Amino acid sequence: MESSLARKVEKADKYAEERERFVFRNFTVNFHGDNHEHVVKYADKTFECDCEYFSHHTYCAHTLALEKMLAPMVPERLA
Ligand SMILES: [Zn+2]
Repeated sequence: MESSLARKVEKADKYAEERERFVFRNFTVNFHGDNHEHVVKYADKTFECDCEYFSHHTYCAHTLALEKMLAPMVPERLA
């Protein structure tokens, strides 16, 4: 039993290094900004943020940071 767990942990360690195996479908993140709290959502391959900048563009520093952190687990922006 213990060796079975060890094998699973070993496999998990390998998978954790192979980020391209994982593709996020949707999630919600609380972002602690310097001055404000923001909520960033991701669904249907699209980011959304409740900040002012995002309301005038299709991206902001918060969504760009998440794209960078999560590459290649979310698609790259095409712009
Ligand atoms: Zn934002």
